[in-house]
Amino acid sequence: MIEIVEEIRKVANQLDRKVKIMEVCGTHTMAIRRFGIHNLMPQNVELISGPGCPVCVTPVSMIDIAIQLMQDPTNILVVFGDMVRVPGSKTSIEKERTKNNNLKVVFSPFDIVKITEENSDKNIIFFVVGFETTLPGIAWTIKSIKEKNIKNFYCISAGKFIPPAMEAIVCDKELNIDAFLCPGHVSVIIGSRPYEFISKDYQKVCVISGFEALDILESILIIIKLLRNNDIKTEIQYTRAVKKDGNKKAKMIMTEVFDSCDSIWRGVGKIPHSGTVLREGYKIYDIKERFKIEEIKEETNKLCICGDILKGKQKPIDCKLFTEVCTPANPVGACMVSQEGTCAAYYKYGGTR
Ligand code: SF4
Repeated sequence: MIEIVEEIRKVANQLDRKVKIMEVCGTHTMAIRRFGIHNLMPQNVELISGPGCPVCVTPVSMIDIAIQLMQDPTNILVVFGDMVRVPGSKTSIEKERTKNNNLKVVFSPFDIVKITEENSDKNIIFFVVGFETTLPGIAWTIKSIKEKNIKNFYCISAGKFIPPAMEAIVCDKELNIDAFLCPGHVSVIIGSRPYEFISKDYQKVCVISGFEALDILESILIIIKLLRNNDIKTEIQYTRAVKKDGNKKAKMIMTEVFDSCDSIWRGVGKIPHSGTVLREGYKIYDIKERFKIEEIKEETNKLCICGDILKGKQKPIDCKLFTEVCTPANPVGACMVSQEGTCAAYYKYGGTR
């Protein structure tokens, strides 16, 4: 480990400029803080966290829609755990759960089929949140529901695709990222090819990394060597899990059920082709086909800078509320709630103002 850190410092010395590397995965953010990798970097190498937490990038308006649907006791809302405590405009799913006792938290989308069967007199509404890592499993579940002809299932389709978000980030001139530490889990599914246009068209190095301390350090070393040599391309460090073409079966089921649509990312705004929408044949499960959704003007705490943190423009320590008011026990914004949130990572592993 010491050797690789020394090698990073030696190569960084040969670069006569500052280098900004963005990690696009909440698990990497957690690992970097946990292992203290940010503290091992030479002065001219900066690690920045990006929009890599699916819960954090889900806009408040979607949470408000989920809460709206919970007001009807004939509906059961099904969510992944982290979503429960994320604040909506006025309240959170957690605060609303006791009113009608109609919330179910699942660890796997495969549990949903059983929930629909056990509650056949209720509408089961699944809040689809996640990146390419979880979307194939969700797609498989929706396909099974169709095959079983289950009639009481609906989706709030808020899944997201990572490469379009990376493109939006490189187009932001203020950020000026040199390279991406690409997400390992997402890349197991999509492979390395979907990042190649970022290297080719935008001249950014992309390296897909594993999650151990040595994986991340080796990936950083690959990045700065490629930058030093002006050899801008996409590489895989996490070769034990990621192939160029990814997992063909998983991609196939994901694209059978979900098409892409323009989608709003918290803090980043609308990104073309970055969200999920159910394809023809599965549209009947979309909440918009079944429920009347009232438009709600979303509200967020003005002092919360989650949006800028997700874009890599600011750090949690720049937020006035960090640790003083906003803590994991009393989260003000999504980045403090999720286990993959940047504010939660800074809080847990000793980020100080
Ligand atoms: Fe928002 Fe809390 Fe993070 Fe501040 S510390 S940006 S309030 S989540």
